[in-house]
Amino acid sequence: MIKEAENHLPASLVVLLIESRPSQLSQLPYLQNTTQVLESVSDLGRTLPFVAPVFMLFKIMVDIERRAQEVDVKCCDLVERVTFMLGHLTALKNIEITEATRTVIERMKVILIDVTALIEAYRRQRPVARRLSLNNREKFSICADKVNRCCNDLMMCLQIQQSGELDVITRSAPNDPDDDAAILFLADNGSIENVKHHPELVEDFAKQRHMSMDNKVMEQLNGNINDAIAQNQAHIEQILQDNVGAAIVGGMKALAVEMNQAELEQKFICIQCSKEYRNSQNGPKSCSFHKAPYDGGSKSYGCCRYKNPCQFNYHRSHHHSDYPYGDFFAYAWGIMIYTDTHKTWTEVKDTNLETRNKSYAAIGEMLRWASHGNRISEPTLFVQIGTIYYSDPYFFDTFTNKGLESMGKVISLTDQTQIFRTSEDSNEFAMAEWILSGGSITGARLTVKVATSEAPFIQVCPFDPSTCSKAGDVLCISKGGFQSYTPESEYKLPENTRIGPEITDKPVRPVRKDFKPVRLMNFRCEEDYFEGELSVFNNHAAGSLNSITISAVTASFRLVGDEEYQPVTNLDLKSLTRLPKTIAPKESWNFRFSACVPRSKEDIEMDVRWWNCAFIARHRPLRLKLTLEEIAGEECSLVSEYVFNPYPFKGKEEDDIAYLSFDDPERFERYAIRVKKGSDNAVLKVAHHDIDVTRLQKIVYNAIKTEETEIDMEIGRVGKDDDLWEWRAWALVDLSCRRIYAIKILLQEGKTIKKKRFASLGYVAVPSYGDIIEKTRPIQYAKESVTLPELQTYDVCEYAIDDDFDEFAPETPKPVVQTPAPAPAGVSESATGGQSFDLPGELTERLASIDQNLAGIAATTERLASIDQSLARIAATFELSVPQATRFMMSQRKF
Ligand SMILES: [Zn+2]
Ligand SMILES: [Zn+2]
Repeated sequence: MIKEAENHLPASLVVLLIESRPSQLSQLPYLQNTTQVLESVSDLGRTLPFVAPVFMLFKIMVDIERRAQEVDVKCCDLVERVTFMLGHLTALKNIEITEATRTVIERMKVILIDVTALIEAYRRQRPVARRLSLNNREKFSICADKVNRCCNDLMMCLQIQQSGELDVITRSAPNDPDDDAAILFLADNGSIENVKHHPELVEDFAKQRHMSMDNKVMEQLNGNINDAIAQNQAHIEQILQDNVGAAIVGGMKALAVEMNQAELEQKFICIQCSKEYRNSQNGPKSCSFHKAPYDGGSKSYGCCRYKNPCQFNYHRSHHHSDYPYGDFFAYAWGIMIYTDTHKTWTEVKDTNLETRNKSYAAIGEMLRWASHGNRISEPTLFVQIGTIYYSDPYFFDTFTNKGLESMGKVISLTDQTQIFRTSEDSNEFAMAEWILSGGSITGARLTVKVATSEAPFIQVCPFDPSTCSKAGDVLCISKGGFQSYTPESEYKLPENTRIGPEITDKPVRPVRKDFKPVRLMNFRCEEDYFEGELSVFNNHAAGSLNSITISAVTASFRLVGDEEYQPVTNLDLKSLTRLPKTIAPKESWNFRFSACVPRSKEDIEMDVRWWNCAFIARHRPLRLKLTLEEIAGEECSLVSEYVFNPYPFKGKEEDDIAYLSFDDPERFERYAIRVKKGSDNAVLKVAHHDIDVTRLQKIVYNAIKTEETEIDMEIGRVGKDDDLWEWRAWALVDLSCRRIYAIKILLQEGKTIKKKRFASLGYVAVPSYGDIIEKTRPIQYAKESVTLPELQTYDVCEYAIDDDFDEFAPETPKPVVQTPAPAPAGVSESATGGQSFDLPGELTERLASIDQNLAGIAATTERLASIDQSLARIAATFELSVPQATRFMMSQRKF
């Protein structure tokens, strides 16, 4: 409706009609009540032009109150009386207007000028001056009297007989505790005349009543409020003359008709509830909404756990920061999180180093309403104060050049330059204010303060209100935050210490060529599993009757250095084939197997689970012997070898600022911490912890308070009972330069390890960070108490890495063909998995060496034959079969 009317109204009237920015006070009941009355009177002003000045005066008064920073019972009382009086004006619609009525309204106008001028002058006074100027009270009661009498007259004219609610005007002037305190104080200190000349007395009073004190207070106490009131009256009358006269002469009636029609037709869409509404049907409970936006994650609103809206208010057609409503956040965040929507001219921020609360204010130019949208054609700027979040005090709004122009006029009348302030606490708040020059807004002053910073950040940003563009450099008036000094000399840090041997990620030696490794597949903590594939090939001529029948396969193992083979706990032949298995000449039999090797008691106690590496073989290679028994009782065995091949250790990387580690050789583990450059705003990254400037400043801030200079950074891994290792980090604070110069990191064995033998302690220099004052100061090292823990010595164990126990045939006749030597002959090099062997080629290649070895076997078996008849038979058979190439092929799969 206001928009429609803009073309017809004189500029200054528009100023008054446009909703000025209310403070938090606008939510107080006495002001909410004024809104309704204001609306009804504005209706009336359209049909009855002589009421228009009353409406305008009332509007100015309400604006002043809305912009006020604190509730004042005297103002509140007076506004309530006026509101009550004007509430009766609606009756004018239904009765004939007499001359008497016009006279009352005319007198009402004069009274309202007085009331408005008084409230305005009073509001401009500093709270201290307001209280100590005792005659203020009298002025208010005079005005109240006038309103009361006028109200009575009005009710008489309108023939209203109302008795119930009359207490608004019949009640006595309210008591204000601050006023009462002022009376007592002045009585004790010899009247206002004495106090006027003694600022220290005034300051005492201000302190008592928790009010702020500045030079203006004394000036105001010594000045005369009557002058200010008179000035205001003249000013207000001028506005009325300029606007109302013209409006009435120019046909307020016609305008009113137009407005009424617009009102009838125009529908609005509410930005709080998205519903359509008409102004005429809009009431204080018309709109329902949630305070917080809908959260898809938790499937609820942040404000409450109900589906039904938790807030009620008027429908609104434009986004506002008067109170939170869910849809506001999508709107504001949709602008502020993108970079192409706006251009920030300046922002000020500070962080409370104790609570981490942030204080923030920013101003800049609007470019788009949504990311990738069209450019905004009307020059527009934005102001943000505080964090835009439903549970925090915040302000976010945009202003067009026209809006700024109108607002400039209102502000030059009301003197309320403050846009918003997050808190009345003078220790911690964010605030923005307009700066006026010659009646128009030409800049903004942004102030943020946190309790842990001595000074606030204050910046002044000048702009051109007609183009909404920055006009000149941003001026820094005050600098808050936490500052450190430039160190006079370099810090010297102790060398890093590492206790314990270093393990290597290389195998102790290559796998012996004549043995092949078997790979570990899976495991439990009590055992290691090895898996492999074996091919048995019968090389008798095709068509001959020399088939071979295998009746059993067994396995045993030993670690290099141990002489005896031990049985495996389990051998599992994975092929579906059942034994016995007959292999025809020139045919082969392959099968996969897995052998389960038991760990030693000590190893079991360590409770280690490894993937794809055999824990048992971490120090010494393991030999696995598979023995195949022919149906007639002959045996042939094959030894294969597993050499532990550790996963490579990453070691120090190129972008590591520091790499600290220690090894546990018994578990074959390396424990390490890397320190890198931090990402984004972080100064350093210790393991996965980004250490930002605020975190460092917070530590220094506390260190200054406690004088403790070695501070646990509360990162790392500590305290879990099943941890094999732990690490912690301490910040070392230089109290002289007010900064952290190094981070000390201790790595040690965890609680699980009873006998502690290994650890590492290192220092990482912290690069300069934050706001540094150029002035140098001598450095001061931290008082350190954290050192390496007491450790027991570790005796380095020398392990055998090879032996030759498998090199010769045993002297004992017992196992008939202990065939370590022939075995390698059959070993296939195939290592690609799946395809286990490629017989013919492979075979011929190796035949020469096999034959050589076989000579030795023949000799052995001959000897055996003489001992035992049956054995002789086996030996003979074997002797026969082997040269003619019953080969045992073994290949391994690579896992
Ligand atoms: Zn809710
Ligand atoms: Zn609504």
